[in-house]
Amino acid sequence: MLDAVVVGAGPNGLTAAVELARRGFSVAVFEARDTVGGGARTEELTLPGFHHDPCSAAHPLGINSPAFRALPLERYGLEWLHAELPMAHPFTDGTAAVLSRSVGETAASLGPRDAGTYRRLVEPFLHQWDTLIRDFMSLPLTALPRDPVTLARFGLVGLPPSTWLMRRFRDERAKALFAGLVAHVMAPLGGLATGAIGLVFALAAHARGWPVARGGSQSISDALTAYLKDLGGTVHTDYEVKRLDDLPPARAYVFDTSPTALARIAGFGRSYEGYRYGPGVFKIDYALDGPVPWTAQEARRTTTVQIGADSAEIGTALRAASREGRAPDRPFMITVQPSVVDPTRAPAGKQVFWAYGHVPSGWTGDLTEAMERQLERFAPGFSDRVLARATAGPPELAARNANYVGGDIGTGAFTGLQTLLRPRLSLSPYDTPHPAVFICSSATPPGPGVHGMSGHNAAKAVWRRLRQT
Ligand SMILES: Cc1cc2nc3c(=O)[nH]c(=O)nc-3n(C[C@H](O)[C@H](O)[C@H](O)COP(=O)(O)OP(=O)(O)OC[C@H]3O[C@@H](n4cnc5c(N)ncnc54)[C@H](O)[C@@H]3O)c2cc1C
Repeated sequence: MLDAVVVGAGPNGLTAAVELARRGFSVAVFEARDTVGGGARTEELTLPGFHHDPCSAAHPLGINSPAFRALPLERYGLEWLHAELPMAHPFTDGTAAVLSRSVGETAASLGPRDAGTYRRLVEPFLHQWDTLIRDFMSLPLTALPRDPVTLARFGLVGLPPSTWLMRRFRDERAKALFAGLVAHVMAPLGGLATGAIGLVFALAAHARGWPVARGGSQSISDALTAYLKDLGGTVHTDYEVKRLDDLPPARAYVFDTSPTALARIAGFGRSYEGYRYGPGVFKIDYALDGPVPWTAQEARRTTTVQIGADSAEIGTALRAASREGRAPDRPFMITVQPSVVDPTRAPAGKQVFWAYGHVPSGWTGDLTEAMERQLERFAPGFSDRVLARATAGPPELAARNANYVGGDIGTGAFTGLQTLLRPRLSLSPYDTPHPAVFICSSATPPGPGVHGMSGHNAAKAVWRRLRQT
């Protein structure tokens, strides 16, 4: 009998498996796809020699993750690569706001009327960052906060909607930058705790940057897998779990799946019926003949570029996809250009480039034209650089990974109480109706992103249970 079986080899499933194996438990992982990685993988999607990340590419949460930082992933091949600037947000006048490692440079890029406000907002939290990120990402109950006072102060600023926080800023540059940061988790700008989301991304950039992984995001998953194997764990790919009976006998089962799939597989009936999924995304991976011709020079000095002319345009795009059931005319986009720092991703002189915009759940249309119109506003001549493109809307994303229900890459909506209390109202979100079954996917706190913290927190719940029995 194994101590634990993990279903799904995404960053959270692999982290949960590693954490258990490190503590001497026997662990086996079962993954539906023929390779490990889930949302952290790399494939030749377009032309030979172009290595694309079909899902995650930029890793502010990965490099800042207390779970990843405690693991020897560098020894297993993970190397973070940093551009000169963590992130840029260009405007149609050819200028850009930036997230720099330096708070001063960031503040200066927002203009004189908001520079001081920005400094006063981030600096107090930045001084306590390592404790704050650990407390924030370990919520709710797997660990007592190490610094409850800073966490409470962060809650006071971050729990209200981001629209409240943005009222502190007087000019569009700061508002647009902040609205874009919130949109990384596809949350409506007026939602609960969206201020905290924007702040975490900004603080992460100042603290440790916003890197890509050399060779692509697959190297994060490969490092976790290699470490797991060294610890004696096993990984079985091409193995879609449809029923609990498909799995070997174990003392605990840990699911890196959506709550809906878990309920179906484990026979939990309507336990997660109230769980809601958010809008989807439309993703394009490009093979380019050269760098993106951004007008704003700052956008050429970074790997991640946010596209949205102002906060109103970003808000309209988010509302269209999440509330109005239509694709935005001017999509807000997150784009990543790993080749700026990683020559291994494309043949000499060429580049890989990635962009996505938000669309309604399950949307079956094609956003390519709207996205490229948007790109041309900030990088005229972009289309002339395109050698090949691979597109994926909600149906394709969901077909590739069952966790992306309706194309929701966060595996659950960031609205209302579900922003904080997911996948159901419980003091112990990693537990399920069965005492030997646990859930560790991004449907659990702290939510989406390649950081492994849901897996880390769930593993704690599992080992406590294993030690009791
Ligand atoms: C287009 C896109 C862009 C993104 N960009 C970023 C980014 O830049 N930075 C960032 O930090 N995050 C990004 N994300 C989000 C990030 O990828 C996810 O939040 C993260 O991968 C979630 O990890 P996870 O382990 O919870 O689940 P996943 O990574 O989704 O892994 C779940 C795994 O479980 C497997 N599985 C599911 N059901 C079964 C079953 N029944 N049997 C066996 N196996 C099963 C799946 O095949 C998959 O491998 C992006 C996601 C997408 C799709």
